[in-house]
Formats: sequence, structure tokens, C-alpha cells
Amino acid sequence: MEYFLSEEQKIIKKLAKRISDEYVSKVAIKYDKEGIFPRDILDLLAYTELTGVYIPKEYGGFGGGVMEMCLVVEELSRNCAGVAVSYAATALGAYPIILYGKEEQKKKYLPKIAKGELIAAFALTEADAGSDVSSIKTTAEKKGDYYILNGSKHWITNGGEADVYVVFAVTDKSKGPRGISAFIVEKEYEGFYCGKKEDKMGIRASSTTELIFEDCKVHKENLLGREGTGFIVAMKTFDRTRPGVAAMAVGIAQGAYEHAIRYAKERVQFGQPLSSFQAIQHMLADMYINIEAARAMLYSTCRMIDSGAKDFSKESSACKVFASDVAMKVTTDAVQIMGGNGYVKDYPVEKMMRDAKVTQIFEGANQIQRNIIASEIIKEY
Ligand SMILES: Cc1cc2nc3c(=O)[nH]c(=O)nc-3n(C[C@H](O)[C@H](O)[C@H](O)COP(=O)(O)OP(=O)(O)OC[C@H]3O[C@@H](n4cnc5c(N)ncnc54)[C@H](O)[C@@H]3O)c2cc1C
Repeated sequence: MEYFLSEEQKIIKKLAKRISDEYVSKVAIKYDKEGIFPRDILDLLAYTELTGVYIPKEYGGFGGGVMEMCLVVEELSRNCAGVAVSYAATALGAYPIILYGKEEQKKKYLPKIAKGELIAAFALTEADAGSDVSSIKTTAEKKGDYYILNGSKHWITNGGEADVYVVFAVTDKSKGPRGISAFIVEKEYEGFYCGKKEDKMGIRASSTTELIFEDCKVHKENLLGREGTGFIVAMKTFDRTRPGVAAMAVGIAQGAYEHAIRYAKERVQFGQPLSSFQAIQHMLADMYINIEAARAMLYSTCRMIDSGAKDFSKESSACKVFASDVAMKVTTDAVQIMGGNGYVKDYPVEKMMRDAKVTQIFEGANQIQRNIIASEIIKEY
């Protein structure tokens, strides 16, 4: 399908595809098996300047937006979503700075993130605060020029690998969500430790860890936005980064679909290739229809966001839900088409099915996205 990308967007997509096919595909199974963080691939993305595609020009980036970020994530995910999420989590950490950073904060962090010299992360979730993020317990108590952070975060992508973390903490317990603030925390700050690394079902090349804050001193200069605006910072960031999860899902689905077609044409049963059986053909046709629908929804959401629209929570959540459900269905069907070979680690679709699952869970589980969409559409009519 023709998506009428600009010439620059086509170049970005083509370059990301090349890196994905020539480099990511070679390491995907090994990195997944051994849980290796893809620093070499991130270095390559930095070398080719793809790390800066969504960073404004005045801070050393290419000056693109959510669309450019998603094109890179989609292409990397065609071969390994674990690699893609390691790249995307830096965008998740960078967007709060792009949106709410003071000029000095932007100048300090964004050019280095654009060059790939800094890896970022976003730390909101806690053990008792997943879907219910407003109930986080990590505290930030102001003492003189510093905030003292205490508590822990769970499930943090790029944990232990990132240089800079956007961390959400409670500055005023009495105010509920309006008492949450966001801080920029650098990896070497005193009292900041990385905890347990999670042993995950999928996206195993990415690092997901606990973070621990024990009297961690963060200078007031590192407060992001105003005190008490952390919940808004998080929600406005998610509006821009949930399409990144959709892009991951579209890429995974596309990768599984391509493997399934090739396999169906080669594998012969009953004297004919699998691709000659109508039951298989219909599965392939449904994969195509669903992937193109998800991609169309993703790209139009990206265009809406990048056009400067004010409110796009509904569209952002909808493309995340649709694409992640498509990825789960397509990868499950790809395993089915490949029969026993789909179910073993020698072929990539087994990994793709495991990788797809998380797209229905993180950046707000799909049930929560449906809650967001429902509340928006009910308000509209
Ligand atoms: C691999 C991975 C990486 C992650 N990376 C990050 C990261 O970088 N930074 C970060 O801050 N967080 C991160 N997360 C956390 C992620 O965003 C949460 O896991 C997610 O929001 C769900 O929270 P939970 O796991 O606590 O599930 P819970 O909130 O316990 O929910 C469990 C189930 O109940 C459902 N549920 C909960 N409440 C409702 C409701 N009101 N109505 C209907 N259903 C409901 C959910 O949809 C879900 O299916 C990551 C998670 C994973 C698995």
C-alpha cells in the first residue's frame, strides 16, 4: 500500500530497514536467547543518526516527530522487537524533556540523546502501581536546593543501561495525582541503584529492571516542569509514545507475516505447497488486511500528532490497542502456518509471538486503553 511518506521519511524507513535486515536479523535469536543488550545496534543507529530523528533541530536532532520515531521502531521490530524497544525507550525518556524541559535541561540532554551518546529511560511504574499509576509511593521531599528521593520502581525498560532517567515521585501526598512531580535523574547520582533484572517471556534483548532510590539527592534544577505536574507530564508523553508501541506491533506482525508466506510457499504437504491450500491462503490474506489496517491507523495518528493537534489521546490509545491485538493474532497464525517448526526456536516466529504479547501490556494495558477511548467517545456525543 502507498502511504505517501515524504522523501525524507522514505529515506529514514529504508535506512532503518537496511540496518534491521543486515544487522538486527543476524543477532536477534542470539540476543533473545542470551538476554544481550543491543548496544552495538544502538551504536549503529547513532552512527547513522537515526537516534535523533524525533529530536528538534535546535537540539541537534533531525527535527522529525512521532512518525519518524515510529518508522525506525517499525523496521527494527520486523526482525527484533527487543532491539526496537531499547531504542524506543530512549524516546519515552526523551519526550518528557522535549515537551516539558526547561531550556537548560533541553540543551544539556537532548543533543546527547540525539547523537546516541546518552540512553534514556522512563520510570513511572511501581510494584503496587501499574495500571493505577496515580498511586505511586516513591517520595521526593524538598530539602534546601535538593529533592530527596526514596522508593523503588519496577519494570523499567533500559534499566541499568540508561544514563538518564525521567523519574516520577510524590512531592505532596495530600494532592493525589496533582502531588506527583517528574525529575531527571542521572545514573551516577548518589543513592540511586539498579535492582533485579527481569527474566522476561519476550523482548529479551531489552533490559527491564527495578530501580531503587535511597536518599537519592536530586538538585531542584532537575525538576521537570513545575512541581505537581508529573501526572500530566506522564500522560502527555504516553499520548506521543503509544504509537511507538503500535509501530513495534506492526513491525512484529510484518516480520511474522513475511516468514509465514515464505514458509508456506516452500513447505510441501499432500504433494502441494502449503500456500495452495485455501485455509492457509485465507490466513495470509487476513494477516495482510489486518497489518495494513493497523499501519494505516498508526501513520494517520502520527500525522495527526505531528501536525500540532491538541488532543489525540483517543487516537493514540486506539492505534496501540488495534496494532497490538493484530500483532498477537498475526504471530499466532504465523506459528500455526509453520506447524511444529513455528513452535521451536530455530525459526523466528516463536520469538515474534512472545514479543507480540507485551505490546498488549506495556505503556498501559489494552483494557486501560479501552477505558481511555470509551471516556473520550462518551464525552464527544
Ligand atoms: C517488559 C515491560 C517493560 C516495561 N517498561 C516500563 C517502563 O519503561 N517504564 C514504566 O514506567 N513502566 C514500564 N512497564 C510497566 C507497564 O507499563 C505495566 O506493566 C502496565 O501498565 C500494567 O501494569 P501492571 O503490570 O501492574 O498490571 P496491573 O495494573 O496489575 O493489571 C493487571 C491486569 O488487570 C487489568 N486491569 C487493571 N486495572 C483495570 C481496570 N481498571 N479495568 C480493567 N482492567 C484492569 C490490566 O489491564 C491487566 O490486564 C513495563 C512493563 C513490562 C512488562
